[in-house]
Amino acid sequence: MNLSYLEHQFVEHLPDHLQEGILYISLKYATAGHCCACGCGKEVITPFSPTDWKMTFDGETITLSPSIGNWNFSCRSHYFIRHNQIVHASSWNTGQIIASRLEDKASKTAYYKNLNGTSGRILNRKALLQRTPKKRRALAQKLLNTFRTAWEKLESQKSSA
Ligand SMILES: [Zn+2]
Repeated sequence: MNLSYLEHQFVEHLPDHLQEGILYISLKYATAGHCCACGCGKEVITPFSPTDWKMTFDGETITLSPSIGNWNFSCRSHYFIRHNQIVHASSWNTGQIIASRLEDKASKTAYYKNLNGTSGRILNRKALLQRTPKKRRALAQKLLNTFRTAWEKLESQKSSA
């Protein structure tokens, strides 16, 4: 069932399980999360950054821009969050999705290029890493460990040879 309204809640950390109908906002981690407004229950995470989402709080309600397009979910829902209201929009076709992704990539590339050299880029990577959801961070750590183990194995082979 399509939701028409989200109640916002300012939190320090997004909870592990998001409750339907609530828009969680963490200013500390510059990110928001809610359950897909189509009612499918999938969790939607919208990081705030100059090239991602922007949040407007008028003292009473929250507006996010741009729209939320859940193309990776089977529901492929598309909606706006304006003044806590869900404004459902038409789903995009594959061409529109690809065009939007390319545009997004181009704007990110342009933005990071404009930052002063590499320090800005590293700082931003760090900020991005900090808001990476726990699960993904665990996966990255696992990958790192795998590489490290492989590397150590190689090193020990070298020294025993
Ligand atoms: Zn959905």
